[in-house]
Amino acid sequence: DAPEAPLLELKAIAHRFGGFQVLHDVSFTAPPVGITGLMGPNGSGKTTLFNIISGFLTPTSGAVLFDGRDIRAESVRRRSLDGLVRTFQTPKIFERLTVAENVMVGAFKSGRSGFFAGLAGLPSVRREMSDMRAQAYETAQRFDLGAVFDRPSPLLTAGQRRLLELARAYQGRPRLLMLDEPSSGLTTTEIEVLIAKLRLLADEGIAILLVSHDMELMGVAQAIHVLNFGRIIASGTMAVVQEDTAVREAYLGV
Ligand code: ADP
Repeated sequence: DAPEAPLLELKAIAHRFGGFQVLHDVSFTAPPVGITGLMGPNGSGKTTLFNIISGFLTPTSGAVLFDGRDIRAESVRRRSLDGLVRTFQTPKIFERLTVAENVMVGAFKSGRSGFFAGLAGLPSVRREMSDMRAQAYETAQRFDLGAVFDRPSPLLTAGQRRLLELARAYQGRPRLLMLDEPSSGLTTTEIEVLIAKLRLLADEGIAILLVSHDMELMGVAQAIHVLNFGRIIASGTMAVVQEDTAVREAYLGV
């Protein structure tokens, strides 16, 4: 069988900030199912690459293909409408909204009737809102947020905030979910829950690109690419990259 076409393909990405070359010739692919990891020590260029893929930065050279299409010229919003959805290191939660409302916002990426119009009580969107609420509740339960569904979001724990962000992203039906350091600020127990939820998303056919320096979390990825000083120095399963001499040097300095 021919190998499945990748969902995301990076071709010889280079990036420079002024005179400083942050990324050199970075190429790798992510398949349409499963979890791909991008790992690397602080300062290795992960955030820069993440911003290039999600559309916050235009690379100095190289191509970004999504579903075979060059998306370099497409806006962040266009990319997210096409299913390329990102989260942030610090969850971006609407603090004035409840958990339920935050989850529902995720389904309104098309802005058809407008979530905020619904909140304002326009009758034309009331019925649609109640269907969405039922759907949002199902999603919230999946992410262990059923019991706090009507709670104001500032009352959540760090772990719940991370899960809320995932639930909201899930409501937008992403094809590729890009997660930036999702374990930051979480306890070991919360990280275990996060890993279980990432597996659940992957099982539902959502491709995940996980960006982190956290080796424990990275174990959930089927293929890992390791960046160091802006170059890919190793690729493979966790078992393979962990034993790689260049990776050990980058992480342990030995
Ligand atoms: P990581 O996410 O792996 O920690 P970054 O992509 O944030 O790495 O940074 C890689 C390198 O690029 C670092 O040396 C950082 O100081 C530098 N850098 C990042 N953003 C900028 C910028 N806007 N201007 C100049 N240098 C930057």
